[in-house]
Amino acid sequence: MGALTLSNVTKSFGATEVIAGVDLNVEHGEFCVFVGPSGCGKSTLLRMIAGLEDVSSGEVAIDGARINELAPAKREIAMVFQSYALYPHLTVRDNMGLALKQAGTPRAEIAAATGKAAQMLGLEPLMARRPAELSGGQRQRVAIGRAIVRRPKLFLFDEPLSNLDAALRVATRIEIARLHRELGATMIYVTHDQVEAMTLADKIVVLRAGRVEQVGRPMDLYNDPGNTFVAGFIGSPQMNFLKAGSLGLRSDLMGIRPEHLAISAEAGQIGGQIEGRISHVEKLGGETLVYVLTEDHGLLTVRLFGEHDYAVDATVWLSPDPARAFHFDADGL
Ligand code: ADP
Repeated sequence: MGALTLSNVTKSFGATEVIAGVDLNVEHGEFCVFVGPSGCGKSTLLRMIAGLEDVSSGEVAIDGARINELAPAKREIAMVFQSYALYPHLTVRDNMGLALKQAGTPRAEIAAATGKAAQMLGLEPLMARRPAELSGGQRQRVAIGRAIVRRPKLFLFDEPLSNLDAALRVATRIEIARLHRELGATMIYVTHDQVEAMTLADKIVVLRAGRVEQVGRPMDLYNDPGNTFVAGFIGSPQMNFLKAGSLGLRSDLMGIRPEHLAISAEAGQIGGQIEGRISHVEKLGGETLVYVLTEDHGLLTVRLFGEHDYAVDATVWLSPDPARAFHFDADGL
């Protein structure tokens, strides 16, 4: 229950096509993340699945049944928004139970369902409060609780963590992962944050300008990106791209992640070196990021474990680990 299929789905606003033929299968129980830069069509795709936007062409199906023409309320889908979308005049308990009440569910059943969701989310002490009396993180938990209570076939999340501060974002991310494990439900999650995509997803769909660039498990995209766009998007800090010709290689571009670029203050210590000048150093505590300006390849990022001291403007030599390098042609493939 809750398997989703998109078949050649397109969306145009007027003459502008923003989703250009998307095919996708999401299995029952899978956590699928749509990721990509702002404006690539993630929300539009999610809204078409929810029924909040019409599909211009193609088919959206749940468990094999076409739902293009089905009203949003009939789709057995629950959506959690970035803005929470709670009713300000209703208590937490009533916000969570509203959809069941509107569906005519008996009161005892509503109480049991909201009670169980509140317990899963640690919301029990807050049930009598109104949204204005809650923190942002608590409101987001209520919005998630409201989705759980409906027992939908499919959960949709539209950038649910964007309005939370950094610490709460991590805590809520972990909570969503736990809920997914406990509920075993199909979840589709939109984010522009590749860390959220890497940590939450069973399956990542990388979108760019309304098209699917690559679909795969997080570590498969990290270890085997199909093109420079995916390679640059997955992994943080971003992969370095070197002009392979000037390194004596036959491919056009070499991709090397910042953690696979060795740095030395002396020439001749390590093979295949690139000379550069330290432009900036960021000490993050557990790791140090060193930005090195090179003549042939521009600014490169080196990631070192622990704390390191490098003087700005000092000359250094970089060496990519050949075993960890990616090779791309002139088209980025
Ligand atoms: P994302 O969620 O990846 O940031 P969106 O799905 O919101 O991207 O938007 C994809 C593209 O569709 C953008 O270029 C956006 O401007 C356009 N778009 C979204 N909604 C509308 C609309 N109602 N009318 C016209 N263009 C829209």
